[in-house]
Amino acid sequence: MSSDIKSIHEFDINLICEYYSNFERQGPGSKEVTLKALSFIDNLNKNSKIVDLGCGTGGQTMILAQNTAGQITGIDMFPTFINIFNKNVQNLNLQNKVKGEVGSMDKLSFKDEELDLIWSEGAIYNIGYERGLREWRKFLKKGGYIAVTEASWFTEKRPSEIEEFWNDAYPEIDTIPKKVLQMQKAGYVPVAAFILPDNCWTENFFDPQINVQKEYLSKHKGNTPIEGFIKNQQHELVLYNKYKEFYGYVFYVGKKV
Ligand code: SAH
Repeated sequence: MSSDIKSIHEFDINLICEYYSNFERQGPGSKEVTLKALSFIDNLNKNSKIVDLGCGTGGQTMILAQNTAGQITGIDMFPTFINIFNKNVQNLNLQNKVKGEVGSMDKLSFKDEELDLIWSEGAIYNIGYERGLREWRKFLKKGGYIAVTEASWFTEKRPSEIEEFWNDAYPEIDTIPKKVLQMQKAGYVPVAAFILPDNCWTENFFDPQINVQKEYLSKHKGNTPIEGFIKNQQHELVLYNKYKEFYGYVFYVGKKV
């Protein structure tokens, strides 16, 4: 029945949200990498308008806020993340320059040419890299920047196991030159593209999950959806360790022309 399907779906979303609320970041990244991407962006002042799309609990947003002039709005579709985001804003005393809002990256209500910088770490895949680059461009001023991380292949050929995993999870994954070309064709000068180092995945993404996974498994023994979810997470780590020379996240920074 459809109501059963809905409740299972809602349970999954709540579970995923609750699980990821345990961490400072909900995707691979690091303070160093956020700052490195920021170092390519040269047009910001105290009147600049910045948005962070798919901000999660705001790990990277707070780094941005502490290292740029301007006003930052973090947008995420999950209220649980935005609540934590806004608590982090208070704790870090950033309320005069940062706010978190619930919203969807495919229904943004900014004015044309209103923004100086669009940021999105580990999140543009939700609407797709090419679609995101194209749809969000109108909100940027001329000379404004976009900075996103995106899953990318590092090599022309890949072992079939990892190829199949990604083609199922995110078929838009592609090589770095193709992603750079897509950025150029979408109307940006590709200013930088660099690979996120391994510690963004290990220390900052997978390692913090290990203890939380243990807790979940002992707390929810016999709960098939939770056990299945944790198993998936663990499988991702196994694949990463086995195939990390073939794929990873890449930061792409572009300037609107
Ligand atoms: N940028 C954060 C979170 C990355 S995880 C970080 O790097 O840590 C991806 C985020 O995208 C999640 O927080 C998820 O809730 C959010 N998301 C997914 N679909 C979305 C949509 N349509 N609009 C806005 N946010 C979305």
